[in-house]
Amino acid sequence: MDRTEQHVAEGSALESALRQLDDAAGVMELDPGVHEVLAHPRRALEVAIPVKMDDGTIRVFTGYRVHHNTSRGPSKGGIRYHPSVTLDEVKALAMWMTWKCAVVGIPFGGAKGGVIVEPGKLSKGELQRMTRRYAYEILPLIGPERDIPAPDLGTNEQIMAWIMDTYSTREGYSVPGVVTGKPLSIGGSAGRSMATARGVMYVTLATLKHLGMSVEEARIVVQGFGNVGGGTVELLYQQGCRIVGVSDVQGGVYNPDGLNPQGLRAHEEQYGTIAGYEGGQRVTNEELLELGCDVLIPAAIEGQLTRANADRVKASVIVEAANGPTVPEADEIFEDRGILVVPDILANAGGVTVSYFEWVQDIQAYYWSEDEVNDRLRQIMEKSYVDVLSVAEERKVSMRTAATILGVGRVAEAHITRGLYP
Ligand code: GLU
Repeated sequence: MDRTEQHVAEGSALESALRQLDDAAGVMELDPGVHEVLAHPRRALEVAIPVKMDDGTIRVFTGYRVHHNTSRGPSKGGIRYHPSVTLDEVKALAMWMTWKCAVVGIPFGGAKGGVIVEPGKLSKGELQRMTRRYAYEILPLIGPERDIPAPDLGTNEQIMAWIMDTYSTREGYSVPGVVTGKPLSIGGSAGRSMATARGVMYVTLATLKHLGMSVEEARIVVQGFGNVGGGTVELLYQQGCRIVGVSDVQGGVYNPDGLNPQGLRAHEEQYGTIAGYEGGQRVTNEELLELGCDVLIPAAIEGQLTRANADRVKASVIVEAANGPTVPEADEIFEDRGILVVPDILANAGGVTVSYFEWVQDIQAYYWSEDEVNDRLRQIMEKSYVDVLSVAEERKVSMRTAATILGVGRVAEAHITRGLYP
């Protein structure tokens, strides 16, 4: 297929996403026209975000919002604040959101947003002004029936509150359903903040059960200690798993006898990082990925498992809590080595699933208990795991290709049923 018009950068997340789409399309014999449609985002907006800084100067940040597909419903996906954000990356993340929503069967398409910024370097006032101006610039694209942002790397519920307020101020009344991952006081959902981690936990438990591995004996390594990584460590520890390695951007810690999440949390609160935690031996982020363990859970950023380190990974299972942590070349190595990769579009779908619950609650103005949220999340994650596994077994493909086939198949069906306009 001729993709020259997309100018896809070599080694980019978009290249990985397109390659995964190609792999699935090949196995499912997808119509080439539909394949071409799904390889392109529906629309992509780039905005300049001028911000008055605290010292009186003006800085202009660059932001994006991409809608990959809207065939199954309004588009859905987080907003990322990170210095390495690129349009290609946002396009890839938006495509993954489309498959993810389809895999877990929630009625959304895929979107993503991003701003090139290091949020930790802005004051709270600067962050608020930047967020409100970004929200204002993407107003034509967002709305509860159109496109619903959520948190991602570098953003949180306070940022969602500012976006909700900016949108609502323009409308003249409160519109809680315009974003998810909001604080509870303005229409957030119980269980949303831990939802991605909880989904990772359900999927990890389902994988251990499927492989006949014991939960108590499972040695787990988690890369990342943010909302997703930190939550996953805590929840898996509560299930009785042994957390033998954890890291954040500044470095990691390893203890074959197990680490205590409370100790890690206390160290992080005091020093702003878990690196240097005295309950284990210091390791770099590179070493962490190669530690002896049963389950490796990358929960940071894309492109972590590559041709350069895939041969040295010792885990027998990789559960992708991050989006796109494994590049296609590493996937091939893992497949050859018999390492099971539970893909991102299944493993980390708990976040967007509870975002869907939040949106439903906002629209109905009727809120559920946390137990109800968690129980519905568990049912969806367990069913989706079985659905993906059955496709993998039926088609004799990896879990990644199976999940992509499932997602792409559902999106293609919606697209074909609606027909092409005009
Ligand atoms: N940013 C999260 C993801 O990558 C959540 C998206 C959402 O809730 O819309 O899945």
